[in-house]
Amino acid sequence: EPYAEFENEPLVDFTQDESREAMLAALEEVRDQFGREYALVINGRAIDTSKRLESANPSNKKEKLGHVSMATPAQATEAIDAARNAFKAWSETPADRRAELLELVAAEMRMRRYELAAWIVFEVGKPWAEADGDVAEAIDFCRYYAQRVRAMDDPRAVNIPGEENSYWYRPRGVAVVISPWNFPLAILTGMTTAALATGNTVVMKPAEQSSIIAFKLMQIFQNAGIPDGVVNYLPGVGEEVGPELVGSPDVDLIAFTGSKDVGLAINATAADTDDRQTSVKQVIAEMGGKNAILIDEDADLDEAVVGVMESAFGYAGQKCSACSRAIVIGDVYDAFIERLVEATKSLHIGPAEESGTQVGPVIDKEALAKIQSYIEFADEINEPTYRADVKSLAKQGHFIGPHIYTEVAPEDRIAQEEIFGPVLAVIRAGDIDEAIEIANNTKFALTAGIFSRSPVNLRKAASRLQAGNIYLNRGITGALVNRQPFGGYHMSGIGSKAGGPDYLLQFVVPVNVTENT
Ligand code: NAP
Repeated sequence: EPYAEFENEPLVDFTQDESREAMLAALEEVRDQFGREYALVINGRAIDTSKRLESANPSNKKEKLGHVSMATPAQATEAIDAARNAFKAWSETPADRRAELLELVAAEMRMRRYELAAWIVFEVGKPWAEADGDVAEAIDFCRYYAQRVRAMDDPRAVNIPGEENSYWYRPRGVAVVISPWNFPLAILTGMTTAALATGNTVVMKPAEQSSIIAFKLMQIFQNAGIPDGVVNYLPGVGEEVGPELVGSPDVDLIAFTGSKDVGLAINATAADTDDRQTSVKQVIAEMGGKNAILIDEDADLDEAVVGVMESAFGYAGQKCSACSRAIVIGDVYDAFIERLVEATKSLHIGPAEESGTQVGPVIDKEALAKIQSYIEFADEINEPTYRADVKSLAKQGHFIGPHIYTEVAPEDRIAQEEIFGPVLAVIRAGDIDEAIEIANNTKFALTAGIFSRSPVNLRKAASRLQAGNIYLNRGITGALVNRQPFGGYHMSGIGSKAGGPDYLLQFVVPVNVTENT
């Protein structure tokens, strides 16, 4: 299998002085660029708007990064028109050439690796190593989809005497890509390059909170020589430009990653067919999770504690794959909690730009308020077993420390709803069967895991946990392109796995040509 041969981009090792110095230099360089203005890019042209968003550092609210133009609904239509006009030439560009351009994009990202990571640190408050992982994943997506589209470019032939059949793929048309802020470069790059590789043209609508990083990506697409109009950069307010983008009769495909509520609304709007429309819109929607890790009675607690802690509190719990429920089986409950609390106490909470930070801020004021409302709700039932004190940091940025609630009932709100913050609910289970039942009893099915030494229980978990990505004896975040194709089902999403062998098939229509010979 050609795709089994894919090599992931190595991560930067920040224990090396050289890497640390390079990152510090990049942070300074990026700081020097604060205050600039970022325009929309439609058909290769920069367009300033009167409405602007001021991007700020979540670790330090006073630090402003720059001003980004916000598109109007009319500009959304202009961007769709530009993508429509660019479609013919791009769809006729050989797949190999499109793949080459994406490899150039990857090469520039690699060259600007520290700079891009520094922007991620500042714009979305992601600690160094995870910001670097975000860039590495973006590079992987470019290279992987380039590789996959080359593999797909070989029509399948079924020839019998008197008849030749050829089966191949055509791009769908104009793709709207709507992305979240939490993997500001990787996810936007993944959805966009999948569309581009397969010959579609794109309107990129990034999350407001990560509009500058998205601009950097647009710039890299332009530098690589991707023709005008093939990708358009349309930052804007989701509620304002979203209906225009999703409802447009000229859009063929919507690739969305974000929350369940927005994903479901997009799916409904896209299904509403306009008379002028010539195709039924394809919707790919990657949505939220309420992911559980099971801790079996015989688990290696050293590993389980680290696996749960990193999965729950890494990037302050703001990963769709994050662990928000730990389901502990039998007598190991007290020992597990005691050690988890001790380990969590040692996490270094601080501004994302500081090298030692393990847990940074949450994205913004609204997110903080939402997480706090869940905490207030949980506090009424039961005080948390551990609550990190972040009072001094909270004056400066949107900080909220790790919270561990124990003896949580499986049906409680904090055990059912996606909080998207550093809040972990620990639940008791009598045995493996009950633990699996509790794990499966939410609307979501994104990631799940188990720590166990029992081969029988590991197999049971692998076959019965309802999640798109199941991890045995390791943490449940950090999926790598090709190695762990990523995505869920149920209310966690519709569509095939990102970074997996089937992902590109969603961006094309298969065609069969039969010749009577
Ligand atoms: P979000 O609030 O749903 O926003 C995602 C995107 O949708 C943003 O660009 C947003 O624009 C846009 N949007 C908002 N309202 C819209 C509308 N009415 N029509 C069209 N677009 C609209 O999610 P988020 O807070 O950015 O990201 C966090 C969520 O993403 C979590 O639920 C997380 O689990 C999920 N996620 C899932 C995956 C996965 O692979 N399954 C990966 C990462 C994240 P604005 O910024 O202007 O609001």
